[in-house]
Amino acid sequence: MFKERIKELFAVHDIYFFGIADLHNISHIRDGKGELFRKAVSFAVPMNAEIMGGIKQGPTKRYADEYARVNEKIDSVSSMLVSTIEESGYTAKPIPASKRTDPKNIKGGFPHKTAATQAGMGWIGRNCQLITRKHGPWVRLGTVFTDLPVQPDDPVTKSYCGDCRKCIEACPADALVGNLWHPGISREELLDVWVCDQWKKKHYYRFNQGHNCGICAAICPFGK
Ligand code: SF4
Ligand code: SF4
Repeated sequence: MFKERIKELFAVHDIYFFGIADLHNISHIRDGKGELFRKAVSFAVPMNAEIMGGIKQGPTKRYADEYARVNEKIDSVSSMLVSTIEESGYTAKPIPASKRTDPKNIKGGFPHKTAATQAGMGWIGRNCQLITRKHGPWVRLGTVFTDLPVQPDDPVTKSYCGDCRKCIEACPADALVGNLWHPGISREELLDVWVCDQWKKKHYYRFNQGHNCGICAAICPFGK
């Protein structure tokens, strides 16, 4: 019943790709009563495919604008989902679409990607991004923690990158390590986030103060 309501809410905003993540033993996010959230609604908003296909040599103004537009949409839909859940008598807490709460280690509070793999939406590619079957990595993710009584989806537990190494070869900063993802692997075993961040700040500062690159997503054969 709740899943249908979530589906309807998303459909109004042209979002058709979501899942329920089981976060037992993973979550460190607490609700207002200090209880750990054990589930999350994870959803994906596709990026414009023409814009994504056009950044194989580096970010563009159109990409930076699209990135900002999709983030804004995710935050707005997350907020609506929180209201809907709370009106039903349950609790919910959104993760901002793009916010570094730990700038020193260059990360946010809880990885959207972890919720998304647990919700069965895709795997983490060699490019350290969520790869969905439908759009590859050409999506941005939203996550809303909740205690709604909904059945979680089956997680994705293996990589489908196979022998592909296109993102490794395309990265101008040489920041991708090349390992295949599996649940529990650390981010550092996939990506040197410091090298990636410094490259973006040095070469693409004019795009969202060096927050955007996108080459390793644009080059991915699953992208569409
Ligand atoms: S975002 Fe750019 S610099 Fe960072 S890993 Fe991907 S291609 Fe390399
Ligand atoms: S470009 Fe290839 S290796 Fe990289 S994430 Fe996509 S499928 Fe995986």
